[in-house]
Amino acid sequence: IHKEALLGVLNLERPLPNAFAPEEKELLTAVADQAAMAVKNARLHEEMVALSLTDPLTGIPNRRHLFSRLEMEIARAHRFNHPVSVVLVDIDHFKYLNDHSGHRAGDDCLRQVSDLMRKMVRKIDTLARYGGEEFMLVLPQVTKHEAFEVAEKLRKAIEEMPCAYGPHQPFGKLTISSGVSSLGTDASDLGSLVDCSDAALYASKRNGRNKSTVYSVGMELHPGRERGPHVASIKPKISALPEPAA
Ligand code: GH3
Ligand code: MG
Ligand code: MG
Repeated sequence: IHKEALLGVLNLERPLPNAFAPEEKELLTAVADQAAMAVKNARLHEEMVALSLTDPLTGIPNRRHLFSRLEMEIARAHRFNHPVSVVLVDIDHFKYLNDHSGHRAGDDCLRQVSDLMRKMVRKIDTLARYGGEEFMLVLPQVTKHEAFEVAEKLRKAIEEMPCAYGPHQPFGKLTISSGVSSLGTDASDLGSLVDCSDAALYASKRNGRNKSTVYSVGMELHPGRERGPHVASIKPKISALPEPAA
């Protein structure tokens, strides 16, 4: 027992009735107390590890978890000569959403986008929160072309997702853009793989957003990596806003 909570049971038997002497019971109680402490510590450690790998807002892996998975998948891909692709996803005009509907609405949308994407990917894929409103999807044994198909499937699903704040967004709906790159085809190490997906994502932004783009050579060299027209001048389509969920 630890702090009045039952953690486990230690069962000891002898064939005779009343077989345990009081001093033996005392000793066993001390052993059980030590065991309870050890069990509690082990559980706490497990919880801490899980927390340190999880994004608290969305419940999906955080970037620490992402990078360790990505490292492992890249090593595996090199070892077995498999493809591995990544999709970097960024919510379009998210600052606009925060500014017009509030940061709690923004948080709701982050959760909604992440929940939907999580449901749409395979168990062996890793969907993680890369940064603020950016997600990364790691797709083991998936070619660049197939990864583009996945990115498009996600993009269309988000575009069609009922979202209370969508109508206030510049496009009249909540949308995402993404950049796709593959190990072997575009890059041979983790850093450049991520850079390539980032360059492709910026290409999606430049080309109008709500787009998926596969990396091609030279994209990273785009001067200034401009993101396309800013939305400061775009007016929201509806002025009455819904209340964010509690
Ligand atoms: P673009 O279409 O070019 O991606 O424009 P954007 O507005 O989405 O991009 P920008 O980088 O200007 O803004 C990202 C915003 O994401 C700014 C930041 O306040 C917001 N953000 C980051 N993390 C969180 C979060 O956890 N919750 C909320 N509500 N907002 C967040
Ligand atoms: Mg961003
Ligand atoms: Mg964005």
